[in-house]
Formats: sequence, structure tokens, C-alpha cells
Amino acid sequence: MHMPGIATRPDRGRSLLGPALSLIHAGRAPTRSALTAALGVTRATAGAVAAELQALGLIGVDTAPGGAAGALGRPSHRLMIDPDGPVALAAQIHPDGFQVALVGLGGQIAAQLSAELGGAPGAPERALAPVAEAGARLLRSSGRACVAAGLAVPSAVAEPEGTAVSPLYVDWPTGTPIRDIFARQVARAGITGPGGAALRCWAANDINAAALAEHRHGAGRDAGHLLVIATGHRGVGGALVVGGALYTGSTGLGMEAGHVSVDPAGRPCRCGSRGCLDVETDALSFMDAAGRVPSPGTAVLAQAIAILRGEYAADPAVRAAAASLTERLGLGLAGLINVLNPDRILLGGLHRYLLEADPARLGAAVAKRSPWGRGAAVPLLPCALDDGGLIGAAELAWQPVLEDPAILVSSTAPAGSRARS
Ligand SMILES: [Zn+2]
Repeated sequence: MHMPGIATRPDRGRSLLGPALSLIHAGRAPTRSALTAALGVTRATAGAVAAELQALGLIGVDTAPGGAAGALGRPSHRLMIDPDGPVALAAQIHPDGFQVALVGLGGQIAAQLSAELGGAPGAPERALAPVAEAGARLLRSSGRACVAAGLAVPSAVAEPEGTAVSPLYVDWPTGTPIRDIFARQVARAGITGPGGAALRCWAANDINAAALAEHRHGAGRDAGHLLVIATGHRGVGGALVVGGALYTGSTGLGMEAGHVSVDPAGRPCRCGSRGCLDVETDALSFMDAAGRVPSPGTAVLAQAIAILRGEYAADPAVRAAAASLTERLGLGLAGLINVLNPDRILLGGLHRYLLEADPARLGAAVAKRSPWGRGAAVPLLPCALDDGGLIGAAELAWQPVLEDPAILVSSTAPAGSRARS
């Protein structure tokens, strides 16, 4: 028995839009029947919700997928992200430059560009101006509306202020109000949000952003307690996604996993301690252990990955360096497993390729150091997304729309508002 009109009742109908869009966004409701089952509503209600999302310009509904119906009857209506729908502007800053992308629902990158500066990106205002200008160019050429913007930075970001607390590798002052600076540069570049309003901007740590993206669109799907450890262009970061939400601590500064010490007599770290994962298992420490000197002009991370992947079989010094970093990484992971009890661990950046090079060694290093050997039972997997930081920055920007797609009503009301000039 269906209940006609239920989705158009303002309370119930609006409250189903967010859950429905979140399911479609995460690839969990590719058809109307899947949406019906996932929402636990009637087919008519699911159809009405899908029609509202379509009217908002967010999804397309194919009512005759696969053409003529076969002997098995009519296939369910197919639900897909509208390829001309709005996008989030995503940006990621790293010590060698920046990346900018337009990211649609479903974590789909519609357009992307990167600039390698070959050096520190400079003062935050000066570093973010070209980022915003590049975003404005991408938006103009795409003709798509922008819902909000997200910025991923190689620093812990304190909330609710949106300040970068530890931008060690981009040489910005501690406490830089990164979210507000980004918002100013976005406004200066002429980018506006739904209905011509000021574009809402978000900022987050780059590994946190990548972890959120992996949970929704990558190798972290369905993990209840997902731990992600990854190298950035410099240093190492960590993130924890619990029940689908980032664990960020009380003020945004939780999960500084890169500053877990794995060698009390190790290298001095910029945080003031010694032997942190950040300086003992990053790209530069790998180059050092392998006896290689980074060439200027190319990101050290890219060089380290190329050497690890390309010369592991032929060069014993590369194998020894990988083994040494793997042991230290295993020690750090064991400590984190002990504290966090994750059900899955994803490794990104250089760590992804340390795992690829010798998974048995890393597994053994974790098992040896984790309590009662329980760490051996936690799956260690590579990150699946090449642009997780960007996609995750876009997730932050999309989040208010995922929670209530009707906030876009004002932007879709006037005719032609989706076309930008
Ligand atoms: Zn440290």
C-alpha cells in the first residue's frame, strides 16, 4: 500500500531528501528499487523523492534503462548523478604547489588542474590567490554552478575557528585563519554560491579529507572504525572515521598520528619531539635511507614513489630502505591499533607502496608489536583514490547539501541560474 503525496509533505518529504541523496552520492542506490529498500519506504515515495532531487538538478532518472523490457519484466528506474549538476570547488595545498578541482556528487572529478611550484607556496594570502583564480577559470569553462568550496591543507585545522595549527611544511604561521583567507580569495576571484550568495568555504587537514573520501567512495566503504595513515608531500598524517564521521577530537586537533614517536633517539621533528612517524617514515627519510638525493624541481614524494616502485627489485639499497621504513611504520601502526582498535587500516602516499612492496613484512611488524598479536587481524589495504584529498575537500563542501538538498532551492528557482557566464 503506498501513501500518495507523502514526499511532497514538507516535513517528511524534505527529511527524506538528504538520506536519499546521500545514498545515491555513495553509490548505494543506483536504482529506484534500491532506493526504496534502503530508505524503507514505498516505491511511490521513493519515486517522489527521486523526482524532487531531479527537479533540484542533482540527479537524473532513467525511466527505461536498457531500452525495451525483457522477459524478466520492467527494470527499475535507474538513478544517476546529473552530469550537468552543480559542483563543489575543491583545493589542496602542499609544499610543492596546489591542486584545484570541480567535484560533482558521487566524488566525480569534472575538471582538475595542478600547479607544481617547486618550492614553498609562500604566505597564505599569496598562496591562495592563484588557487581561487584557477577555480574561477574552471567554473567559467564548465558552466556549472558551485555549491561551496573545500580546502585541504597539510596541517591540523582547529575548529570552530578554521585555523591552521601546524602548517609546518608550507611555512605559514601557526594559527593562520586559513578558512577565512580562502573565503576572501574565493570572493575576490568572483566565485559565488547558490543564488549569488557568498560561497561557503570549509578547510580541513588533507589526510582527514582523504580519509572521508576513502570511506565514502574508496577502499574504506563499510568500515566502522577506519584508520588512515598516509604520507603527504612531506611528513605523515593520520585520520580516523568512526561510523562514517571523521573523529577530530574536541577542537579539531585529534589524530595527530604523524607525531607518534617510533624512535626516541630518532630524527628531530618540527613538532619538537624526536623520531616521529612524520620524519621517520616520510618520503624524505626514504630517500635518505636509500642514499638518494632529491632532485630539485620535482616533488620529493613523487621521486620517492618512483624509486620505490621502479627500483625495488634491482637495487638492494632501495629494498633495505623500504624494509627499514616498513619496520618503523609497523611499530607506529601497532601503537595506534592498541589505542584505536580499528577494523580496517588504509595506507596512502608512500606508505601505500611500502605495503605493496612487502605486505608480509609490514603485517609481521604490526603483529609483533601489537597487544596479544591482535593487530595481525586488522586488514591493511592501500588507499584506492588518487585524489582523495581533493575529493574529501569537496565532501566537506557537499555536506550541507547532503544533509538538506532543499537548501539549493533558491539557486535553482530563477530560470537559467545554472548557467554561469
Ligand atoms: Zn613530530
